[in-house]
Amino acid sequence: MKILVLNCGSSSVKFALVETGDAGLLARGLAEPIGAAAGSVSWETRGRFRTTAALPDHSEAIRIALDCLLDPDRGAIRTLAEIEGVGHRMVHGGEHFSGSVAIDEAVLRAIEECAALAPLHNPHNLSGYRASRRLLPAAAQVAVFDTAFHQTLPARAYTYALPHELCARHKLRRYGFHGTSHRYVVQRFAEIQGGAPAAYRLITCHLGNGCSMTAVDRGRSVDTSLGFTPLEGLVMGTRSGDADPGMLLQLMEWEQLSPGRMLSLLNKESGLLGISGISNDMRIVLEHAGGGNERARLAVEVFCYRIRKYIGAYFAVLNGADAVVFTGGIGENAPEIRARACESLEALGIRIDPAKNAAAVGAEMDISADGGATRVWVIPTNEELLIARDTAWCIEESK
Ligand code: ADP
Repeated sequence: MKILVLNCGSSSVKFALVETGDAGLLARGLAEPIGAAAGSVSWETRGRFRTTAALPDHSEAIRIALDCLLDPDRGAIRTLAEIEGVGHRMVHGGEHFSGSVAIDEAVLRAIEECAALAPLHNPHNLSGYRASRRLLPAAAQVAVFDTAFHQTLPARAYTYALPHELCARHKLRRYGFHGTSHRYVVQRFAEIQGGAPAAYRLITCHLGNGCSMTAVDRGRSVDTSLGFTPLEGLVMGTRSGDADPGMLLQLMEWEQLSPGRMLSLLNKESGLLGISGISNDMRIVLEHAGGGNERARLAVEVFCYRIRKYIGAYFAVLNGADAVVFTGGIGENAPEIRARACESLEALGIRIDPAKNAAAVGAEMDISADGGATRVWVIPTNEELLIARDTAWCIEESK
């Protein structure tokens, strides 16, 4: 079954065409920036291609992406009727959705309701859905939520110790994000081991531009580092992760910062970029750290220390773990970060083999030293595949 996967953000549309049978990924591409008179669409099928076009909105970007997929020489399909379903990455499903669903009027209303919780994401995801319904009226439309995997968190993990009435009124709780990526690596880990996800306790580390960790107890997410918003927990490219809320309020007063300004500072000017003053890109920060830049060195150290601390915390949450799994651009490609994040964790049975770690760049591999009781794995994430599989499953269910 051919499934189009759409990930519509504020400034881009990422698309992929997945054959849920053996063929796998048929095409993937990116249209950006949305809103530009001179945007570009790049895509990969048999080769890498690029075209320029005006991209006034998501609808036009998706229309052009479909044209690229239909291109007789550089595309991947002959007619749009080949696309049986569209899987939409939706950032926030609130407490409504613990799994993927075919989008009907009730689902649409619930997603719109959740837009208040993710004002920077859900509206764009929804405009992608509306365009896709218009452009592909015969295809099933399915929503796959970043938050859904974490709906299994127990109250002790999702409750913030704020006045309870306020939490209820504003739906304040830990939702968690990156659920599709965490769920993919959990499923893949189980597949590799030849067991079911229910057989393992895992600590999954998604380290990309955004970073999060999840404690997964026998297939169920029981704690995760991102919270009510995707700002809590680990140090990220430009996001602070954990920071004393009292300090932040004090800073707002001292610097006369509005809530909007503070939000921007925490989301766009902090993290690796904030500490290093150089870049949010781990490759560049590592390069400068290697060259002796003190602030870049500190950024890497804080980044890795925070991961190590969460590994310890989730080890306690799970009362032991079968494996720590690294994924995401940094998790898959940066041996130095994995080595430092797992440093001095012998007490937890975590020991990395330096040669295996160095060899595991963008590859699926067990990088633990012989005898390590807690295995350490690198598993490249594949959110598109999971979204496509969920979409195909929803289509089969509705038949
Ligand atoms: P997103 O969260 O946007 O999907 P990715 O998962 O692609 O992002 O991760 C992007 C991050 O991965 C960037 O910080 C980038 O520097 C980092 N990265 C990619 N390749 C490497 C590498 N070889 N070494 C270190 N970091 C890398």
